[in-house]
This record gives sequence, C-alpha cells and structure tokens, in this order.
Amino acid sequence: MSKGITSKNEDYSQWYNDIVIKADLAEHSSVKGCMVIKPYGYSIWEKIQAVLDQKFKDTGHSNAYFPLFIPKSYFSKEASHVEGFATECAVVTHYRLKNDGNGNIIVDETAKLEEELIVRPTSETIIWNTYKGWIQSYRDLPLLINQWANVVRWEMRTRLFLRTTEFLWQEGHTAHATAEEAVEETRKMLDVYADFAENWMAVPVVKGVKTANERFAGALDTYCIEALMQDGKALQAGTSHFLGQNFAKAFDVKFTNKEGKIEHVWATSWGVSTRLMGALIMAHSDDAGLVLPPKLAPIQVVIVPIYRSEEELAKISVFVDELMPKLKRQGISVKYDDRDTQRPGFKFAEYELKGVPIRLAIGGRDMENGTVELARRDTREKQTVQQEGLDIFIPQLLEEIQQNIYSKALNFRTEHITDADSYEEFKTILDGKAGFVSAHWDGTPETEQKIKEETKATIRCIPLDNKLEEGVCIYSGKPSTQRVLFARAY
Ligand code: AMP
Repeated sequence: MSKGITSKNEDYSQWYNDIVIKADLAEHSSVKGCMVIKPYGYSIWEKIQAVLDQKFKDTGHSNAYFPLFIPKSYFSKEASHVEGFATECAVVTHYRLKNDGNGNIIVDETAKLEEELIVRPTSETIIWNTYKGWIQSYRDLPLLINQWANVVRWEMRTRLFLRTTEFLWQEGHTAHATAEEAVEETRKMLDVYADFAENWMAVPVVKGVKTANERFAGALDTYCIEALMQDGKALQAGTSHFLGQNFAKAFDVKFTNKEGKIEHVWATSWGVSTRLMGALIMAHSDDAGLVLPPKLAPIQVVIVPIYRSEEELAKISVFVDELMPKLKRQGISVKYDDRDTQRPGFKFAEYELKGVPIRLAIGGRDMENGTVELARRDTREKQTVQQEGLDIFIPQLLEEIQQNIYSKALNFRTEHITDADSYEEFKTILDGKAGFVSAHWDGTPETEQKIKEETKATIRCIPLDNKLEEGVCIYSGKPSTQRVLFARAY
C-alpha cells in the first residue's frame, strides 16, 4: 500500500480525498467551496472534453458562448426555474470598490447596479433570451448548440469534483419544431452520455427518468444516468432535460411552422460536469491510488529504466527510442521517465498513485534477455514480456485493461442491485451492503419524501428499461405497477 493513502475500507471519504490530493488532481482553494484543478487532473478533464466534444459534433451540435452574468429579470421569467435555483445564486450588486480614506478597500455604494446580475448557475434564461432573435421560422430549426463553461451554484456541503461551488461543465441547449423531436433529442443525448460513461470511463450506468421531486427546475422531464460508487452510494453522472415550451413561453420564442401557423418552440438542455472526474476516481481506484481506464489516461504507458551505469542506461535508451515512436504512431501516449533524481521504486509508486495503466521496467538483464517487466495497474500483476512485438502487445493489453476495469465495475454493480419487498428489508439493505435498492413505490412525492427523511435514500430514477410488475409500495402498501431504484447518493 502506498504511504499516506487511507484505506478504502477504513474511511472511504478520506480515501477519496487522499487520492484526489496525492495523485495531484486537485486541491481545495482558499475560496470556500472552490477547488484548484491541478495540471494532471486537468489533463484528464481535457480528455473527457475532447471525446464528448467530438460526440456532440457528430450528433450535429455546434459550440457557442454566452455571458457569465444573467440579469435578474431574465432569471425570474420562468417561475419554477427561479424557484429551484434561488437558494444557491451568487448575485452581483456593485461594480466598483473605493478607498475609504483610512486605507481600507470597501464597496463603493454609489456604484450600485440598477439591476442585479446573477452569476449563471445554468444558462437556459440568457440563452432563450438570445434564441428569440435567432428563431423565426421552421427553417431556423432545429437549433443545436453546446457551451463549455463554468457555472456557480452556492452549495453548502462541497466535495472536491463531486460538488463544488464553481464547476466546469458543458450545457447543451436545443430548440425544436415539435415535442416529439425535442424528446428524441433529450433521449439521444442521454444515450451519448451513457455511451461515454460505459465505453470511455468504464463506468456502467442506469438510464432513467427522475421523479417530480428530483426534476430539474423548469423541466417537464429529467432523464439521467446514475452510477454506483464502491461504497455503495449512487452518483448522478449526467442529466438531459425535456423542457417542453416553458422557456419559449417565458422568453416569447415563436416560429412559423410549415403550415404558416405561429407556435412556441420546444426545448431541451443537457449537461455533464467535472463531477465526472469524481465518478472516474471513485468507481475504479484502490488503496494504492488512482486506477484510470486507458482511454482517458493522460499517460497510458510509462517506461522506467533500471540501470547501474551510464552505459546500461544508454543501451536501454536506444531500445526505448525505437519503441516509443511505434507506440505513438498508434495514438498511445507513452512517457519515458529517465530522471536520475528519483529511484525506480519511487517512480513505481508515483505512477501507481497516478493510475498509469501500464508500466514497463527495463534493466540490464532485460536488455541481455530481450525482455521487459510489465506491470498492469488494474490487477497489479507483473509479467515478463518479450521486447519483440511489444508494439502489438501493448495496444491489445490496453484494450483488455479497459474491458477488465469495466467488467469489474459492472460485476460490482450487478451485486449491488437488490430487490426489497418490505420497508424493513429495504432499510436492512441500505444499512448493509447498500447500493441500488429496487422497490415498489406508490408514485407520490409524499411517500418519496418520507422515505428520504427516514432513510436518506432517494429515488435515483425510474429505469428506462423497467418492466411493468404488479406490487405494493414498501412504505404505504398502496398498489404499484413498477419498481424504482432507490439509493443513498452523493
Ligand atoms: P443540472 O443542470 O442540475 O441537471 O446538472 C447538470 C450536471 O451537473 C449533472 O450531471 C450534475 O450531476 C452536475 N452538477 C450539478 N451540481 C454540481 C456541482 N455543485 N458540482 C459539480 N457538478 C454538479
């Protein structure tokens, strides 16, 4: 075990923080609730961005940028939207400071804004206010826009990456001629998120619909992907909202349809944030540090020379200089760590901590034998491999590691979805192995709220692939037609 990382079984939450800090991903800033994303952490975020950005473009979207500030009057136009976000808004009231004459810098009360500005917690209002000028006819639709940005939500309990006051995200905002088209878009982007989570992050997710209690403020339907962390808690990893005509009505965005009739436009919005970093860390890592799926690892292969003389190092370096371009040509990111300021053992621990999927160690004996020592981060197994053909073996192994990490997470999740048929059983599972509990619910917000108050478990979603099944609500005993997924969540 790497020194300094709290064991996962001892204190999960401390284990998570230790990994974020010690793998050099992020740190708490001096500003409460806000984090500094460090270069290594940011390089993982850049990979996430690059893949998602391409997927958005492949599905017809373009990037644009809207202001950070939203006039309070815009923000207030959609009633349930403002109500949902009101308690977590940062508000700009003044635009100047001054010296009070005693050397103190104070807010200049004479420089009060006529209208306060809200630092965007999400951009529906400023964007729909803009769309009014962009959409007149059915020919202007669909409008498929994405924005990469930072947003601010004044969160009370923050956790690095998982819940911060300021966070980075992307927000898609689309406009459509019909409700059917908008729903189709909402579902399509949910599929994009699920595909990304499973095939890049190696995190299995449940696709589902939120209940009214958990719905985005201003949406008719919120779809989500829910992931399970290794402590049995759920994490909402992404959301896609069908907004109906709510924002079009609030901002008077109308279009002339093919029949010449004037109608309000239909809307969607969808987002994932730096919370995905938290999901990535929590889903796969172990007591030695971060475990990264190869597809998102900034360094996929690290090579550490083990040498006793300069001549030995020179021989190893000749071999490495031949191998590296062969790997790079295949799009594999590889680092040769020939620093003479650190010992191999130190380097091994560092790359384990940082989750580098494959480590090659090459010594003098290896050079004589034509071999390398290869260590997999996911299983921590070591094997001796022939130098010949490494450029074919490594890409295959990276693929296998990606699959293995996913399978492991999937098995864990399968073992942690449990049916409960009574409230007692439900509570026993939550306090035991936890995970998702699949149970009948009477469909009322009251019951959902009571269960939340009594057990801290919320309905994570109504899975999209749910089968209808006659049953009775575990809480009220009233009839129910399907099970929903409950869990304690981040
Ligand atoms: P929403 O706009 O509320 O649907 O959220 C969009 C995405 O941002 C979801 O995937 C959330 O999980 C994520 N998210 C919401 N609040 C935070 C936060 N405080 N920090 C990080 N991510 C967040």
